Amino acid sequence: MYIILSLFILLLALLITIWLIIKQKKSTVKTTIKSIESEQKILQKPSIEFISKEYFEYIVDNAQYFNRMNQLDLIARDISNINSYKKLYKDGYKDFTDVEKDLLISLTNTLNESLKQTPKLYSIPWKFAKIDFNLEKGFPHTHSDTIVLSNNFFALEEKSMIETLLHEKIHVYQRLYPLQTYNLISSWNISVIDRIENYKQARNNPDINNFIYAYKDKAFLQIYNSDHPKDISDSTVVYYNPPDNNEKHAITKHDLNIPEVVTQFEHPYEIMATLIPKIILYNYQEPSNFMNSTMEWIKTNL
Ligand SMILES: [Zn+2]
Repeated sequence: MYIILSLFILLLALLITIWLIIKQKKSTVKTTIKSIESEQKILQKPSIEFISKEYFEYIVDNAQYFNRMNQLDLIARDISNINSYKKLYKDGYKDFTDVEKDLLISLTNTLNESLKQTPKLYSIPWKFAKIDFNLEKGFPHTHSDTIVLSNNFFALEEKSMIETLLHEKIHVYQRLYPLQTYNLISSWNISVIDRIENYKQARNNPDINNFIYAYKDKAFLQIYNSDHPKDISDSTVVYYNPPDNNEKHAITKHDLNIPEVVTQFEHPYEIMATLIPKIILYNYQEPSNFMNSTMEWIKTNL
């Protein structure tokens, strides 16, 4: 009797051990699946979309850019009022050709590989619209979450196309992450000094915000060269003491103490959008406080 009971207990112990081993294996598999899933979540490939005319019209109707245009902005674009420009702009919507779509898919795939180390930037979906090259002088720009291109973009060298797309994606980031963007700009000792509406000569740009910034208490912005600008390029970046006085002078990178590689400095959003692609794509480095704070910021915010 005891022998049978002992055998029974032994068998039971054996079964429990086997059950525990199987259970442990199952939970290990579960944990592995979970960690793979979370990794995929972080690195989920950003989608690419060529937006519809309806969505394009929606973002034009809601973009701050059109509402902050001043009299000189209208003259430079040869239009009489903001509503007629919005209409012209919406009518300028074009469909991408299949060749252009394939090229953008290939370019964004290449860029995605370079952006894996900057997950916030990487995860932002790619949204594209195409407009007539006569609008905004055919320059690439953004509205809301969408990158707006014209035929001019497709005439660029591949290297410039990639840099341009990253530049524009940073403008989309600036809208999605305003606090992080603010922190970077503050680390450069650049701060908001006024609203753009108070500067009647200011040249607007869809990629900037509603503010004028200052470095060492001097405002810097792009202004039209006269009261009758021929087009949006008939303008200069100036640096001057507020309020709007006559002591303004055209600026160099030296005045703002920004890295040599920065090519656009009419607004801190443009400084950021020209500098970061140089760092991500070409590993640009320079021994300066400006670069040190930017590199530190990139580690935790991009
Ligand atoms: Zn820009």
